[in-house]
Amino acid sequence: MIRNVAVFGATGSIGTSALDVIARHPGRLRASVLAAGRNVDALVALCAVHRPDHAVIADAGLLDALADALRDAGLATVPHAGMAALDALASDADACDTVVAAIVGAAGLDSTLAALRAGKRVLLANKESLVLAGALMMQAARDAGATIVPIDSEHNAIHQCLPPQGGCEGVARIILTASGGPFRGRSRASLADVTPAQAVAHPKWSMGPKISVDSATLMNKGLEVIEAHHLFGMPAERLDVLVHPQSLVHSFVEFIDGSTLAQLGLPDMRTALAVGLGHPDRLASGVSGLDLLQHGRFDFEAPDTDAFPCLALARDALVAGGTAPALLNAANEVAVSAFLQGRLRFLAIPALVEHVLAALPAADAASLDVLREADAQARGLATRAIDSGAVH
Ligand code: NAD
Ligand code: MG
Repeated sequence: MIRNVAVFGATGSIGTSALDVIARHPGRLRASVLAAGRNVDALVALCAVHRPDHAVIADAGLLDALADALRDAGLATVPHAGMAALDALASDADACDTVVAAIVGAAGLDSTLAALRAGKRVLLANKESLVLAGALMMQAARDAGATIVPIDSEHNAIHQCLPPQGGCEGVARIILTASGGPFRGRSRASLADVTPAQAVAHPKWSMGPKISVDSATLMNKGLEVIEAHHLFGMPAERLDVLVHPQSLVHSFVEFIDGSTLAQLGLPDMRTALAVGLGHPDRLASGVSGLDLLQHGRFDFEAPDTDAFPCLALARDALVAGGTAPALLNAANEVAVSAFLQGRLRFLAIPALVEHVLAALPAADAASLDVLREADAQARGLATRAIDSGAVH
């Protein structure tokens, strides 16, 4: 049966990679819903190619613009606007059976949760939702019988190394690999004046701006440790990080018998997306296999937590538990956005996160409302700290 795939974040880096794989399998996959934040032209251009049933623009004020543009392009795609439309389509059995959750940031939480609660197959790229509300999301997936296929390359690698029935029986340790980002090998002092353009110039992966900055600070790896904790049920002390500059080994799983399994491949997200789109079957993704003779060598080194304190901040937040990861994520989103706008220095990103975590004590993450409130408080505090110059 053909799979109807909703791509949330369709205009982004992950979204366009997902559409590339979908278009390679017209008899098996179709893009039935496409959603984007506010770029109507880019969304309509994708609709012209993929002919979805529904298109959603998250900015509620852009409904008329979307409807007009779809009509002008002669497309029968039904226009929708606003985050509630996203949640409704995520839950609608006729609209989609599979959801690619590829919105950036905590903005992706509600639609991802709606898809999980509706028991869909969810290809989860939006790591911030797991950092914010991982326990609740995993519980929702279990309750509704939803399938989560991790799309983050490291977690997709681990997913591929674990037995098909899932679970971490017999696993001693998970080792996430990290490229080290564009500033690997540099001292903390030398990072004082780095620019947004330098920070988003990732040596191995082509990605959206927010995750590129997260890779440069190593917060990305910190978020991924928290993500792995929720996805695989591993305690923090059995989640390790190893810098691997070639970005060809996407992670390792070490078992109690001394075996270590890894997944290897070129740094191209279409492989992980094909694993999710075909799940449990394998699909061609357009990515070629590795030429190991050409690559020659694999290097591994320990992360430099002095130059890149975000990794330790994230680990501490995971150990603290409760609302701490939500506070960390929200402060980081505000910091990265201000850095990209030239309003905050690179080294002030960890400083701002630390400032927020020190000022707001972690509470029990009893409900989604408590987590949302923590997210809002952290955003407010972080924004005030930037505006007042307390952190700069
Ligand atoms: P991106 O910036 O390229 O794309 C983001 C997408 O989200 C766009 O389509 C945008 O329109 C949409 N969007 C932004 N704000 C929105 C909002 N408020 N409401 C609805 N839609 C909104 O980002 P990306 O690099 O594709 O990353 C997407 C997610 O996948 C992130 O959570 C990221 O951490 C994760 N991820 C990305 C990669 C990668 O290679 N790019 C790898 C692993 C994980
Ligand atoms: Mg990753």
